[in-house]
Amino acid sequence: MVQVEQSQYEEMKHIVKVNLCAECGGELTIRTNPELGTLEVGCPRSRDHHGYVEKETWTQSYRRGQGAPLIIKDRIEKKMLPGDTRSALPWH
Ligand SMILES: [Zn+2]
Repeated sequence: MVQVEQSQYEEMKHIVKVNLCAECGGELTIRTNPELGTLEVGCPRSRDHHGYVEKETWTQSYRRGQGAPLIIKDRIEKKMLPGDTRSALPWH
């Protein structure tokens, strides 16, 4: 079992909730780092994806017309559609 302070875990949960992967825009996850024996926030799609960006930042960038990566654009547009479209998204 990985040792982690409760406060650290709460912090990670918060990061996962309000941020997306900086490289692919995917949802983040809390995972174990077997080398360090700790928990870390990371992209479930690739260990090579580093960093994260606030969801708000992605959305605002898109609304300002500055262009978000296609995957995010797709996500935002789907959110505006009625009904549950989550199952149509590639990462679900
Ligand atoms: Zn990623």
